[in-house]
Amino acid sequence: MIYKEYGRTGKMVSSLGFGIARMPMLLDAEGKAVGVDDEKAIPMVHKAFELGVNIVDTGHWYMNGFSEAFTGRALKGWRDKVFISTKNGAEEGTYDCWMKWLERSLTELQTDYIDFYLFWGLSLEQWQTQINKPGGLIDAMRKAKDEGVVKHISFSTHDSAQNISALADEGFFESVLMQYNLLDRANEETIRHCSEKGLGVSIMGPVGGGRLGEPSKVIQQMLGGKSMSTAEIALRFVLANPYVNVAFSGMDSMESILENCATASVQGPLTPEELRKVDESFGEIKNLAALYCTGCNYCMPCPQGLNIAKIFDIMNYHRVYGLTEHAKAEYANLLKPDSQNKPASACVECGECERKCPQKIEVMRQLKETHDTLA
Ligand code: SF4
Ligand code: SF4
Repeated sequence: MIYKEYGRTGKMVSSLGFGIARMPMLLDAEGKAVGVDDEKAIPMVHKAFELGVNIVDTGHWYMNGFSEAFTGRALKGWRDKVFISTKNGAEEGTYDCWMKWLERSLTELQTDYIDFYLFWGLSLEQWQTQINKPGGLIDAMRKAKDEGVVKHISFSTHDSAQNISALADEGFFESVLMQYNLLDRANEETIRHCSEKGLGVSIMGPVGGGRLGEPSKVIQQMLGGKSMSTAEIALRFVLANPYVNVAFSGMDSMESILENCATASVQGPLTPEELRKVDESFGEIKNLAALYCTGCNYCMPCPQGLNIAKIFDIMNYHRVYGLTEHAKAEYANLLKPDSQNKPASACVECGECERKCPQKIEVMRQLKETHDTLA
């Protein structure tokens, strides 16, 4: 296993972290999750620890509210060897509520300290209005740290890259958890910025939230058809970023644990030459995707409520990236009766969008093709 220094926290963390978010669950007769299948799940987590993983990321609400409590059970006998990263959603935005959720985290995790405690899904706006003010949540976090209950103050975020950098500039945080993968490199610059500011940088969704878990010939051929799975290429890509310290993978099977641990120890990051090839190929792929639709949204609104760019984006997972199963799963969401977005089949061919599209895209024909391919 490769270990890296987690920013100025000084902790040495495994470059692969275990995201406790997709463990096998126990289901009731209606298919509702009623708990974690400890018999299957605990040996999986222990195997990762035995292979060198020394940090887990959890959060009370993951896995239908069972994640932290499961993590507490899985850490029995391992607590002094493994770092815990978990989160406080501060849903009510009050000091008392925040403290209550901290108590809940400690109880569920069966521990008296948390290594990395994160403001969950923090935005710059929330920081400015709710947290960084007298009597705000900043005081709650400071108190917890002064008492040794929290070792390092952190945040997870889905805010814009610019706002994440602004949060890092506040000088309050010791580490950050954000999105980054082969398909979404928007945070590349802020990852570097946060690292240079001394924050430990951890990544969620290194295999694109499972999107890169399925085989894609397109992505595999980027490295000349070497015998590597798409997930392996995706993880090695994230690990090759010198400013990334930990990639948290939500591993859901023994196979994925063995594969990811091997990737993070034996294969290691993509080499500079491999990275150059991936960069080049993605440049070409992006140009190809733009031929189908640039996502400019000039064609909107559609009188039938279709989100045309989103539908083409889903189609591109299939025709450009070769991630067909993911594209089908995403499209199936549009077909659900309660979906906010309409599927391609709702188009009545009024032609309004085509008149507005600067790329002269044959929207109606492409929508039909999308539905026929993915429905
Ligand atoms: S042609 Fe179809 S997609 Fe385009 S505006 Fe009309 S209904 Fe919407
Ligand atoms: S106007 Fe054309 S290129 Fe822009 S989002 Fe609509 S279909 Fe895509």
